[in-house]
Amino acid sequence: MSAATSPEGSPEPPVQSPTQRRVSARVGSISESATLAVDAKAKALKAAGRPVIGFGAGEPDFPTPGYIVDAAAEACRDSKYHRYTPAGGLPELKAAIVAKTRRDSGYEIEPANVLVTNGGKQAIYEAFAAMLDPGDEVIVPAPYWTTYPESIRLAGGVPVPVVADETTGYRVDVEQLEAARTEHTKVLLFVSPSNPTGAVYSREQIERIGRWAAEHGLWVMTDEIYEHLVYGDAEHHSLPVVVPELRDRCVVVNGVAKTYAMTGWRVGWVVGPKDVVKAATNLQSHATSNVANVSQAAAVAALTGDLTAVDEMKTAFDRRRRTIVRMLNEIDGVVCPEPEGAFYAYPSVKGVLGKEIRGRRPATSVELAEVILEEAEVAVVPGEAFGTPGYLRLSYALGDEDLTEGISRVQKLLAEARD
Ligand code: PMP
Repeated sequence: MSAATSPEGSPEPPVQSPTQRRVSARVGSISESATLAVDAKAKALKAAGRPVIGFGAGEPDFPTPGYIVDAAAEACRDSKYHRYTPAGGLPELKAAIVAKTRRDSGYEIEPANVLVTNGGKQAIYEAFAAMLDPGDEVIVPAPYWTTYPESIRLAGGVPVPVVADETTGYRVDVEQLEAARTEHTKVLLFVSPSNPTGAVYSREQIERIGRWAAEHGLWVMTDEIYEHLVYGDAEHHSLPVVVPELRDRCVVVNGVAKTYAMTGWRVGWVVGPKDVVKAATNLQSHATSNVANVSQAAAVAALTGDLTAVDEMKTAFDRRRRTIVRMLNEIDGVVCPEPEGAFYAYPSVKGVLGKEIRGRRPATSVELAEVILEEAEVAVVPGEAFGTPGYLRLSYALGDEDLTEGISRVQKLLAEARD
């Protein structure tokens, strides 16, 4: 076949038959989760005997509390839990989610507002798939968690990032959001506390943003997975409670992963208007059916129990948070605002880029993360993964000793930086 040229003279890509296209364009365009990739590289180096300290993983380092594990063990031995559940979740788990949402957020919902999903990730994916048509735009405050833009694109939507930097503690304001709004905007993505920055919005800020969304008839997806991990004077407020007029166009994403150290159990949920929840449930009924029955039993135990376990984890995270922020800010060229929630620090490293470190001149945060991994044997995730080059994300969900040792190594390495 001769190469065709477009009217502008540039060669057009050769036309492929469906059988020549090995992977679909839609799925082929998804990139690997950068956070999981960093974690995998660190684990591989560790397995090869290198003393790598990982700040990459987004999961608590604590075991799941014993009473939750016991409930799961009991369910394992009961054949009732060896069967399918309704695709949208065990009725007793939906009831527990309704009660928990009232207890923790003051938000009144019914079981028909709930879909139990395979973790928060599936909740996000299915909710976007249920809300978006091709070309619909979703405003995504950046730095953003990598999964949001990918799941928006998979659903045919268009992510529109709105960047906030360290000077505002990575919080966007209404003026920035308004500048990004077009006639195609359907959804605002909102997350507080945030991954990757740990930013927590105040009630007043949430109210302003929520009222702006309501005024323009926008939908909102609010991710509350870190609701219980807030420190100091910071408080979590649920957006549809602060701005009730959004209720009918608001989808809440949540899960047990972070609150109860249950990342591997894979239980999350969507709370939303009944029509959207029904549509997402239909999708899930064909894609994956129910979440593992035993995991749902474990989640019932978690949600009907108290919050003692998360309070204990929170005390440890808070201590580590203060240590990591102090140690990072001691490094020349590094600026780390104090995160008020979740378990991530998100320092700017712009003041280090371009300097010479052990014969190399990392010009980007990707290159700097590579130098840090190879020279200091410390794994961190570069800001490129979150839509903002020039930053690093460090999870402080690791032991106190490892944390201090790891950041000391980074301090020593970056102290060698020369112009
Ligand atoms: N939302 C945010 C902001 C997250 O950081 C994560 C986990 N990294 C999730 C949702 C999803 O968690 P999971 O799928 O493990 O429930």
